[in-house]
Amino acid sequence: MNILNSLRDIVSSKYVSNADYIRKSYSRSMNSVIEDNLPDFVVRPENSEEISEIVKIAYSERIPIIPRGGGAGLQQGAIPYKPGGIVIDTTRMNKILNLDEDHLTVRVQCGITWAELNTFLMEKGYYTGNVGPNSGMSAVVGGGLSNNSYGEGIAIYGPVTKNCIGLKVVLPNKNGDIIETGSGECKYVKNPFNRFGFVSDLLGIFLGDNGIMGIKTEAILKIYSKPKFKAHMSFTLKRKSAEVALKILFNCRKKGYLGIFRAGFVDSSLVRASMIKILPDIPPLDENLKIINPKGRSMLEYILIGENENIIEENNKIIEEISLAEKGVESIDAQKKIFKWDNDKNEYWQVSHHIWGALGPESTGQSAECRIAMHNYPELTKGLSKWTLENSEKLQAVKAFPATGGMISLCDHTTISFPIGLIVWNKPEYRKLNGELWDSFMDAAIKLGVMPYMTGLRYSRSLIRTGAFSEQFLNFLRTIKQSLDPRGILSPGKYNLGMYSE
Ligand SMILES: Cc1cc2nc3c(=O)[nH]c(=O)nc-3n(C[C@H](O)[C@H](O)[C@H](O)COP(=O)(O)OP(=O)(O)OC[C@H]3O[C@@H](n4cnc5c(N)ncnc54)[C@H](O)[C@@H]3O)c2cc1C
Repeated sequence: MNILNSLRDIVSSKYVSNADYIRKSYSRSMNSVIEDNLPDFVVRPENSEEISEIVKIAYSERIPIIPRGGGAGLQQGAIPYKPGGIVIDTTRMNKILNLDEDHLTVRVQCGITWAELNTFLMEKGYYTGNVGPNSGMSAVVGGGLSNNSYGEGIAIYGPVTKNCIGLKVVLPNKNGDIIETGSGECKYVKNPFNRFGFVSDLLGIFLGDNGIMGIKTEAILKIYSKPKFKAHMSFTLKRKSAEVALKILFNCRKKGYLGIFRAGFVDSSLVRASMIKILPDIPPLDENLKIINPKGRSMLEYILIGENENIIEENNKIIEEISLAEKGVESIDAQKKIFKWDNDKNEYWQVSHHIWGALGPESTGQSAECRIAMHNYPELTKGLSKWTLENSEKLQAVKAFPATGGMISLCDHTTISFPIGLIVWNKPEYRKLNGELWDSFMDAAIKLGVMPYMTGLRYSRSLIRTGAFSEQFLNFLRTIKQSLDPRGILSPGKYNLGMYSE
């Protein structure tokens, strides 16, 4: 079979390529420090039916397929594990299919970016609650649902997956079956309104799956009325600041959700770095900080939402009382917004794009970002410091340094997320050691009980390498994978399940 011609027959020659420069650009994601594995083809379908046809070819020819959203993942989930295969770029699938104001849901194609979707919804007075990852100007709905992404609003609405009530998925089997999951499983439900009810939560198999179970083509997400009022609160902390901040956040949680849309701790080193110009052509992240927090102390900041000012005022008082009960905590002028956060104007997303690569074009993060339960924080930081000491010579050899903590965000219930990983330099001679250090760092993190919030190629293999899963659990996972993907064509290499010739 001539694969190129067959793919052209499906999507037209405009949307398939085997040109070197295209293959090269799809051999990388945000972490550009590892060897490039070029796919053979990049294809850009526009709907589920086209993807199904592509799957049929891949199945019959046993060609790996790798679904890709915005390519903003930090764990190499959207690039080939080995040279070859077909990368399916879903970003042409960016349509809003149905805004259902009776059920408060929106049906979209999975290649739409979070920023585009929320900009559309906000004009109509809605949003997706959790408005998607900070990378949402590039990252798309399918990537977020596959990575179980966190984002602004997670403190009250949960991760993006929690707000998904339906998916259309193409299965990686012989016929490229297209299925609906969620209450849309039942053909008599005209407007899907709920996640499950007919049988087990089969939608869940495809959420947070890192793209190994099926190719998501359409999603139904809950939408919420955008709250009328929003308030900012900020505190500075003097000593043992991360521990104190976590104690405060935990005590807040014990009182309920208190309208906390976002709560985050920012370490003093990051506060100070945000006040200054790091690169000549990039302005400081927030010059306001010089005025409201001149000593550059660590900060705890909140965004509260509510339907009226009284509700916010009441919650404000509760949070203030809890916060000021801790030694060394002071309230600062909350009216001066910190980090210029305002998702009405895309600033929320722009800030992150601004931070990435702030150390210059050659620096990059080898992320091992994670979620943990609040109470595990001290143990985790101790464990990672130990790893740093043990690996100091190797780190020096490639001038890499660990980037742990800095910012802690309140997530769902008593969970927090924060960046951990390494800042490294993208030089060919450092690649091998960079890769080894990255794996070793992730293995250490997994053994310390973290939950990676995206696993991609790297963390997923670390989970297997460190023996994190029991053999019984692995068998269960393999059974599901095998029944959905009998030839192992979808995202091979992830999780190193040892089932196929990976
Ligand atoms: C500056 C910056 C800030 C970030 N901030 C956050 C953050 O706040 N929260 C957060 O969670 N992450 C964050 N990330 C990481 C990442 O961008 C997100 O996890 C995001 O959701 C990835 O989406 P994407 O569309 O880029 O996915 P990709 O990187 O393209 O893919 C991610 C994974 O999903 C799979 N996939 C993609 N689309 C499909 C599909 N349709 N069907 C099946 N599988 C699919 C891929 O195979 C891959 O395994 C950040 C990254 C950067 C660079």
